[in-house]
Amino acid sequence: MLYHSTRNKNLSVTGAEAIAQGIAADGGLFVPESIPELTAADFDALKGLSYAERAARLFSLYLTDFTGEELRECTHHAYESGSFETPNVQEITTLADGSMLLELWHGPTCAFKDMALQILPHFLTRSIKKTGIDREVVILTATSGDTGKAALAGFQDVPGTRIMVFYPEDGVSSMQKRQMQTQEGENVCVCAVKGNFDDCQNGVKAIFTDPDMQKALADHGMQFSSANSINWGRLVPQIVYYVSAYVTMLEKGLLENGQRFALTVPTGNFGNILAAWYAKQMGVPIRHLVCASNINKVLTDFIDTGVYDRRRDFHATVSPSMDILISSNLERLLYHMTGEDDAQIRAWFTALKENGSYQIPVELRNRIQAEFSGSFWNDEATKAMIGRVFAENGYLSDTHTAVGICAARDYTANAPEQSPMLIASTANPYKFGAAVLEAIGGDTNADEYEILDRLQAKSGMQIPKALAELKTKKVRFSDVVAQDQMPAFVKEKLGIA
Ligand SMILES: *Cc1c(COP(=O)(O)O)cnc(C)c1O
Repeated sequence: MLYHSTRNKNLSVTGAEAIAQGIAADGGLFVPESIPELTAADFDALKGLSYAERAARLFSLYLTDFTGEELRECTHHAYESGSFETPNVQEITTLADGSMLLELWHGPTCAFKDMALQILPHFLTRSIKKTGIDREVVILTATSGDTGKAALAGFQDVPGTRIMVFYPEDGVSSMQKRQMQTQEGENVCVCAVKGNFDDCQNGVKAIFTDPDMQKALADHGMQFSSANSINWGRLVPQIVYYVSAYVTMLEKGLLENGQRFALTVPTGNFGNILAAWYAKQMGVPIRHLVCASNINKVLTDFIDTGVYDRRRDFHATVSPSMDILISSNLERLLYHMTGEDDAQIRAWFTALKENGSYQIPVELRNRIQAEFSGSFWNDEATKAMIGRVFAENGYLSDTHTAVGICAARDYTANAPEQSPMLIASTANPYKFGAAVLEAIGGDTNADEYEILDRLQAKSGMQIPKALAELKTKKVRFSDVVAQDQMPAFVKEKLGIA
């Protein structure tokens, strides 16, 4: 299997090269030259296997330059080394209205990003070796919260890697700050930056692209890499969990062989829902994809009108991991759905960069609407849904998942045909405890740990170990630097000053 750039299909690289490079030199995203298809017998063959075993088999269809043994090593490290709270890795819960929740947050940082970031470091170190370079990988990440922690947990003590995470001093929640400051591992480093997320991001970009810095690293046998969400190595593990979820639904008798179901995904960057679309192309019988957004509704507008327009106000919401105005992974969908028209993709994404918008033809918009619909929900609707789901089921859903449940119920109420509904559940409710506690009528006038306790007392749901532990963990990282001090900080911590 080779990979092309969405902006130049004459560019061909192997899976290892796509993962090692992250993004194509022309600014495009790597896409597989074809999408493997699974037969009913292939799905049958996945029954009864562990998650790690299923994942290794599915990865072998996309990462053909890895041996079966290498892939099995990767999935073993990621999914069988005790970092997930449940041996199944993912769980499916059925609500009273018959809809099903695909819980993707049983990993070490309590959000679905663990599903990919627990395995990416293993793909990355092997990919870099395969491309003929044998250097230590230095991951540099700017984060507004969830990604940084998931990346730290994924790279913690992975041989051949180091990771440095920068976050805005006053731009993350106190729980998120705690999660990062207490991170364990010999190869990790965390630092706050005076400024906002953009300052962090700009500082990291400047270090990445500084030739002197690159040379200094190379002289010491190191090279920079990124754990960015557009890396194919993060998307392919997400395809796996949708395929695996279908097999599990068959095993549990929640679906019959080949029975079609609707799937709702709360998304911002279009990554998680694009993975579901790939799973559909592979043969998972998904009737319809529902794209759920908060009031940063750029995707809802795009699906409805065919116009993508990021020139709009940014809103901070109770579902902050979907507060996104540039949905990078849409580029991959458009590449596939235009019949791999790389020149057209180049034109649209140049327009997005230069003018802030692009418009697709009506014919393409109609085809997208045949597969996807979108809706958006404000904070009041989100919190009301958390309250309703709790009242009906005694089940706590996080704010992002609740946006998905709103969209799923709205879709089902108006759908032309009834079919089972699966909803991607993206975070443990304790991760966004204050909003969740408020939604079920609790008093939120308390610190972050008291909020966890109150939520547990009210719901009976166990506080996840990873969050409960934070209270007693030692703060290991309390450095704060200005943006212009970041390069010196990086050199000092890498011991190459
Ligand atoms: C990152 C994140 C999302 C959005 O994921 P996309 O990659 O934008 O699809 C949704 N929910 C939670 C909890 C997240 O951390």
